[in-house]
Amino acid sequence: MAELTPVQREVLRALVDTAVPSLQVEDDPHGFWALPGSAVGVDQGLEQALADMSEADQAGMAQLLDGLAMLGFQHQGRKTREGMLGTAMALAPEALIAISTLRGASCLLAHSITDADGRNPFWPQYGYPGPVITPPDTEPYITPHVPTDGEVIEADVVVVGSGAGGGTIAGVLAAQGKKVVVLEVGRATSERDYRQLELESSQTMMYRGGIAVSADGNIGLLAGATLGGGTTINWHNCVKPSDAVRKEWASEHGLSDVDSPEFDRHLEAVLARMKANDACSDLNGPHQRIVEGAEKLGWSWHTAVRNVDKDTYDPVAAGYTQFGDPSGSKMSTLNTYLRDAFDHGAVILANTRADQVCSEGGRACGVAATWTDPETGETRRVQVTAPDVVVACGALETPALLLRSGIGGPAVGKNLYLHPSAGIFGVYAEDQRAWWGPPQAAVMDQFRDLGDGYGFLVEGSQYYTGVFAFQLARRDGAQAKEAMSKLGRMSDFLFVLRDHQGGEVTIDENGEAVHTYALTDERDIAGYRKGLRVMAELHEAAGAEEMWFGATPRVWKRGEDVGAWCDELDAMHIGAGGLFMGSAHQMGSARMGTDPATSVAQPTGELHDVAGVWIGDTSAFPTPSGANPMLTCMALAHRTAEHISGKRDESAIPAQAEKALDDAPAA
Ligand SMILES: Cc1cc2nc3c(=O)[nH]c(=O)nc-3n(C[C@H](O)[C@H](O)[C@H](O)COP(=O)(O)OP(=O)(O)OC[C@H]3O[C@@H](n4cnc5c(N)ncnc54)[C@H](O)[C@@H]3O)c2cc1C
Repeated sequence: MAELTPVQREVLRALVDTAVPSLQVEDDPHGFWALPGSAVGVDQGLEQALADMSEADQAGMAQLLDGLAMLGFQHQGRKTREGMLGTAMALAPEALIAISTLRGASCLLAHSITDADGRNPFWPQYGYPGPVITPPDTEPYITPHVPTDGEVIEADVVVVGSGAGGGTIAGVLAAQGKKVVVLEVGRATSERDYRQLELESSQTMMYRGGIAVSADGNIGLLAGATLGGGTTINWHNCVKPSDAVRKEWASEHGLSDVDSPEFDRHLEAVLARMKANDACSDLNGPHQRIVEGAEKLGWSWHTAVRNVDKDTYDPVAAGYTQFGDPSGSKMSTLNTYLRDAFDHGAVILANTRADQVCSEGGRACGVAATWTDPETGETRRVQVTAPDVVVACGALETPALLLRSGIGGPAVGKNLYLHPSAGIFGVYAEDQRAWWGPPQAAVMDQFRDLGDGYGFLVEGSQYYTGVFAFQLARRDGAQAKEAMSKLGRMSDFLFVLRDHQGGEVTIDENGEAVHTYALTDERDIAGYRKGLRVMAELHEAAGAEEMWFGATPRVWKRGEDVGAWCDELDAMHIGAGGLFMGSAHQMGSARMGTDPATSVAQPTGELHDVAGVWIGDTSAFPTPSGANPMLTCMALAHRTAEHISGKRDESAIPAQAEKALDDAPAA
């Protein structure tokens, strides 16, 4: 966007101070209530974020700011400004999305912007200590290759994307003697970079800088975009797919071996490589509340199996894990399969975007890519020639690469399953110390199957002041402040729903991915509403004094009827302007199956229409896994790697897997 005009800037500042207002309260020892968002530079941060938006979004935002300026918004008192925003949101859906986004982003920035010492002035109110570990000064294990302009690299296999799927395939194939090249659009990071700062890590390691809201405004998307992909920033929870899912994939989608001991071999191989165990799953406040609630209600739960090295595990570092793990205990692909690949001579490029998959006569021949210097913006063209290409960009981007390349058939981008999720915050009498310990240490699995193999899990969340402020960005700024003032005593529970109906990925005129998703299937709507009800009952059983959820619903107070509160939630629509949906699990958008009209790849992972192009990530799931996807993705990737090479992975010795893994619940 052209720079904001002085008037637009004034309006933006007034909008920020409506979302995060200065309020006078008698007891304000930390200055929390008095401090407006603009005092921590939220308006400057937002202006920068606006400049990074697409031209169309920038034009929409400019129109909104100009419209508000004409009404004199910037000269009004707080209550009048709230009223003006409410009216604008009611008048046009575009205004509703734009204002909700600006409100959410204002709250997010207010609580995550830090000063030179890595501190934020709002944190003392809710007792968040901020960064607590000095990152080690160790050299990165992997040295990425920096290409020259126009460089051509020859390989046996080029793997695009280094996350759960791509990283695994690269490691297995390189160890089998293939000459592997890995292309990753994100930066290469390692323990010495992990300063436990939410905003910094979102900007450098997350897809589109953090929460990427879908084009229709219905759902916030979270994904990794760094070397190691989602596994570098995720929450280490290894959940096996249920028997029902495995049967469905075998009988309805042609993946016949997935419902056999052969697939157990793939699962055990990756669990063993990731040193997965359930001995490092300390329960922090929110998890203790989940367990107390579940036990009171007679609902089943299990301790999470996590891909963490027991020898270096540190529960303090674990609490910051989404910002990168300075303890090095996280067994991401960055610390496992990508190291295997590197040790076996793979050439790994970071900051390198695959623009197109190249093919000739229905057969893969390589990838055209662009390397970009993250500091200067300088770009260099790179060509990798290879007879096998693995597309593993994550389910948000894999279809975009296929569409840019004109391959994959009519099902590319369809069936974008998102495991829609929502969190209810319970306020308890005591400090919950939710920033300590693993973000997911226990799983409440009572409702995993509501009868047709579909249902939801209830789990904990990473503690982050910014994303929580985004979720608690009420339509009334004073309420948003009140919610955040209680963050120290809050526990956030999430449900993760296995969805029947998917969304879609298309591309815009620049070839960039565009995501749409709406909850329209009656079974999914019922599942979402049941998920909220179950979390509310859990909080009540665990002793919550209040419950807060999203932008508009009334706050529940102890003593009130939980059922009646949930009835009120049931009356609201789900998605843009209504009840919140988020997704950290994206799947299915280039799925495997037998029918080229409804699937992109064969059951082996190889495209129906182009030999030698393989789908290696969660996009390949025929339907959603109903389990946090990393483990299933890695097991399928292990299987796909063997299909590519035609050889079994002899390095995998399942007998070494921990006993705990055999006991890891599948359902
Ligand atoms: C915050 C968070 C927490 C999570 N916690 C868990 C958990 O505890 N357990 C679990 O099972 N799952 C978890 N997940 C989900 C899990 O991390 C993902 O499902 C998994 O990483 C997906 O693997 P993937 O290979 O499909 O894609 P990714 O791991 O996302 O990897 C795709 C990679 O491709 C790169 N890429 C994209 N486009 C291009 C291009 N054109 N050229 C080159 N590179 C490209 C991306 O930058 C990215 O690094 C979590 C996810 C998030 C966001």
